[in-house]
Amino acid sequence: MGDLSKTQQDKEGLTDGLTGLYNRRGFYKFTRELLERHKDKQFCLAYWNIRRFKVVNNLFGWQTGDKILIQLAEVMKEKLAGEEVTIGRMERDNFTCCVPVEIVSHEKWYNMADLSYYVGNVEYHFSCCQGIYQISDRSMSVSEMGDKARIAMETIKDNYMCSCAWFNDSMWNTILEEQKLSSDFRQAIAEKQFKVYYQPVCRAIDGSVEAAEALVRWEHPTRGLIPPGIFIPMFESNGFISILDRYVWNEVCRMLKSRLGQGLRVAPVSINVSRAEFYNPNLCEELKEIVTSHGIPVELVKIEITETAYADNPHQIQEAVNRLHDYGFLVLMDDFGSGYSSLNTLKDIPIDVLKVDMKFLHGFETSQKAAIILEAIIRMAKWMNLKVIAEGVEDKKEWDYLKSVECDMLQGFYFYRPMPEEAFGELLDMMGGGSGKEARRPDQKIEKAVFDEFRLGNFQADTLFYGMLGGMGVFELTEQDLEIIQVNKGFYEVVYENAQLDEKDQVINRKVEGPEADCLIKKCREAMETGRMQQVQIHYHRRDDVYVWLNMKIRYIGSRGKRSLFYFAVDNIDEAKKLEEKRYLLDYSTALLRFFDSVLRIDYGTGQGEVIHSKGEDLWQVGEKFPVKGFFDAHREEIDWIDCGPAEEIIENKELLDQKLSGSRNGSFSVCCKVSGRGPGKNDFDVVSVLFFKVKMQGGEEEYLCCMKKA
Ligand code: C2E
Ligand code: MG
Ligand code: MG
Repeated sequence: MGDLSKTQQDKEGLTDGLTGLYNRRGFYKFTRELLERHKDKQFCLAYWNIRRFKVVNNLFGWQTGDKILIQLAEVMKEKLAGEEVTIGRMERDNFTCCVPVEIVSHEKWYNMADLSYYVGNVEYHFSCCQGIYQISDRSMSVSEMGDKARIAMETIKDNYMCSCAWFNDSMWNTILEEQKLSSDFRQAIAEKQFKVYYQPVCRAIDGSVEAAEALVRWEHPTRGLIPPGIFIPMFESNGFISILDRYVWNEVCRMLKSRLGQGLRVAPVSINVSRAEFYNPNLCEELKEIVTSHGIPVELVKIEITETAYADNPHQIQEAVNRLHDYGFLVLMDDFGSGYSSLNTLKDIPIDVLKVDMKFLHGFETSQKAAIILEAIIRMAKWMNLKVIAEGVEDKKEWDYLKSVECDMLQGFYFYRPMPEEAFGELLDMMGGGSGKEARRPDQKIEKAVFDEFRLGNFQADTLFYGMLGGMGVFELTEQDLEIIQVNKGFYEVVYENAQLDEKDQVINRKVEGPEADCLIKKCREAMETGRMQQVQIHYHRRDDVYVWLNMKIRYIGSRGKRSLFYFAVDNIDEAKKLEEKRYLLDYSTALLRFFDSVLRIDYGTGQGEVIHSKGEDLWQVGEKFPVKGFFDAHREEIDWIDCGPAEEIIENKELLDQKLSGSRNGSFSVCCKVSGRGPGKNDFDVVSVLFFKVKMQGGEEEYLCCMKKA
């Protein structure tokens, strides 16, 4: 790389301190020299960016981020060693290199920049996106060549299916146009060139208007009406989106306020929140502030979050959705089915409404598969107490179909195109009466459908329910009982780790009793009162008398009289829970070992004791088990209790030991004994002090420990 020695380069400020590659200045200088040296050779300029690097930094911190950058630089240096190339880091996670065209044409070039990185012992995979400019005009500055490669890269930055793009001239023209639009932005905001259009959302049953979605358009003075698809992605990358979004939210609130002020009919309006907003920690407060400062009820403004945002930062989104709920907003998941998440993710995110875009179900009319997917989504959503809006409904056939699968609401050109504020106002004026507020609770129709479904038992045959989504089922709560009415096949896989089930096993009628029932009933009541998903960890008593730890997510479906139904999804966390406890106990006993020679656990449930730690050379082996009852009788010869009353009796009897423990000042019970028989001669003995106490595990259970120390 270059002819200057490394120290000289450093001195002249030509290398990047972190990675040792060229910095921007160095890259321009040495690339120019490289091109001069090889006038007849064809070169390319490549520009890289690590996908979602910002997220890496957020999650793991800058130091880890730096290590990943160094690793990528090392990979590039190693792979390109000995070639006529220059490699540089421009800034942050942007790398560039100038390489002969034949290297880039080679297939292995494309996966060169895929790397793995370990954080703790978890492997993370990073991929890069790159743009390539084949240098055709050497009179151009290296910086301009880099711009072209970067522009090519920008075109695929959000496209995870595509890792590389070659520059072409139309990209350049698009960029010029975008730059022009960007430079018009501030004036456009000041002059209110952005107009909010409203597209009604209709009830599937009769096509009546229930709500609307606010969609922005740009009435550009010279270019006419520009659709959001042209400018939103651009404003998302240059940050203008936050100004535009707030402008739209305020416009929507102004419209609602104005109508309410005049005593006119209103309908709830959903606003789109760009995924870029979720990096803003005050987003929810700002939304709340905008709505309340206009003095309109929160129920009139609903929040749409696009599904792709969930893929980018699920935790932030989950938190934001909870906070939006706290403020009283309803949250819609937009563009569901665009491919990033599965139905499975739905059980983790407490949204209220699912928007499915018909365009994601290409060839819906002709494709049986698309119809099956749609039906599955709708059915599942109902189980989870979510309403479904189908977007992009374009003809009567689609409407009829959607009605037949009991989709709740529809939006599309067949009903109304997005319309300016005045036209929307006129539409509302034409509709008589009603407050226009949408009910939050599921309507009777859905409840009835759910009841009918499994009361009649036709759900048994439903491959969707039985085949999909891990473990789930339905509880029924009456005044005093909680009963599991129906579970799917996944339930057995998850809870029993065994999918082989009998036909008749599929309908289980099982009362849940004991402590897990109390937890569940409490959570079911909360789910019913709040209308939100609740989560609880329970120690579940299986039919084969085994206890397993389960994490349950519970959603309220509906009630009829004194009976209420809940949908639940279940994860088996037994392994994790046990590991956690074992680790806890081990940590605990390791600490105790500093004071004691051995630590034994006494499990009164199974009647067994186990050695969990030992200094080794003496009495006990780790893992050794013994029965608690009768143990001391059997060892009467070897163990001689000193001055301690009925020690054996106390140790063998949990109730007595509990009494002793709770009666003592520090929660422990100690005795002394002489132990003989394991030493070389029958007369050897040790005086051992023995201390009993209880440890509370994280799950709330208690473990009894017996610690011994030679006096
Ligand atoms: P979206 O939120 O999924 O909005 C639905 C899009 O589908 C709208 O496109 C709407 O006009 C279009 N549409 C509705 N019915 C039909 C139909 O029957 N057939 C077809 N082919 N299309 C239909 P639009 O208005 O072009 O908006 C595109 C996207 O731009 C929106 O998708 C949304 O993601 C974004 N967007 C629009 N306004 C805003 C805004 O104020 N802020 C933000 N952050 N994004 C916005
Ligand atoms: Mg939307
Ligand atoms: Mg949508």
